[in-house]
Amino acid sequence: MDRRTILYRGSLKSCNYHCGYCPFSKHRCSERELEKDRTHWFRFCESLNERAEALNIRALMVVPYGEALIHPWYWEGLGALTKLDAIDAAGSQTNLSFSIVRSLEIFEHAGGVREKLRLWATFHPEMTSCGEFAEKCAALRREGILFCAGAVGVPENLEVLQRLREMLPREVYLWINAMDGLGRSYTEDEFQRFSSIDPYFYREIRPVPADESLCRSRLFVEADGTVRRCNISAASGKNWYEHPQGLFEEMPCRRKRCSCYLAYGGREDAVNHALFGPDPVFRIRMK
Ligand code: SF4
Repeated sequence: MDRRTILYRGSLKSCNYHCGYCPFSKHRCSERELEKDRTHWFRFCESLNERAEALNIRALMVVPYGEALIHPWYWEGLGALTKLDAIDAAGSQTNLSFSIVRSLEIFEHAGGVREKLRLWATFHPEMTSCGEFAEKCAALRREGILFCAGAVGVPENLEVLQRLREMLPREVYLWINAMDGLGRSYTEDEFQRFSSIDPYFYREIRPVPADESLCRSRLFVEADGTVRRCNISAASGKNWYEHPQGLFEEMPCRRKRCSCYLAYGGREDAVNHALFGPDPVFRIRMK
């Protein structure tokens, strides 16, 4: 059985950052909504604990709407999952605004294995400075935590992103995502400058025709158990909790293109493994 990966998105829809373009920065979750997200998350962790070994699920990444890692329950759950023999890697996308010391305490109190923790850190120039973000990255490195860093390829941010590239050690891969809603193609100059920051930027702007047969070892699971093949594919009609049998079998994704890294980067393409190792979804470059 192939090694399998799950992406999980809870019911959380809120963030402590307030970036202008982001819908989740406008919504403040009530205590009740947060409690619901917490309950969903622990229910999911428990189900993964029960199934990971039998289904050969080796990696989990949380891809929240908003910021999950400012909430202690995500650290507790990741800690409990990384202590399982079946799980090789678990982590989350994050804006890196959490307290590293406090969060690692919760993680390790839950039995977390630091070597298995993976973070996908997004730099938001509206909300933090290059210096502050680079310092947070340095602190993660001192703690021995594996992560990638990156930002959206907004042409107006080119200079600041080049500055960030200069401030980070070469070992830290800095990805650039193609900007949704740019409304035009990147100019040759922009393409060259973004490519000098992220050598794989070309992968963001070439069309990748969908091929669901390359996605049979992955699932995207939502808080209520809705299952999709990936973050952009159609809901399959299957439910993680209600129909645990045959979850990984063929399911049409109904997409023409795999249009973002979480989609194309999680496919069983040899290049993904060559660049990003056994769990390319975390986007952490092989040395
Ligand atoms: S859209 Fe998603 S499920 Fe469909 S082929 Fe692309 S990555 Fe796979």
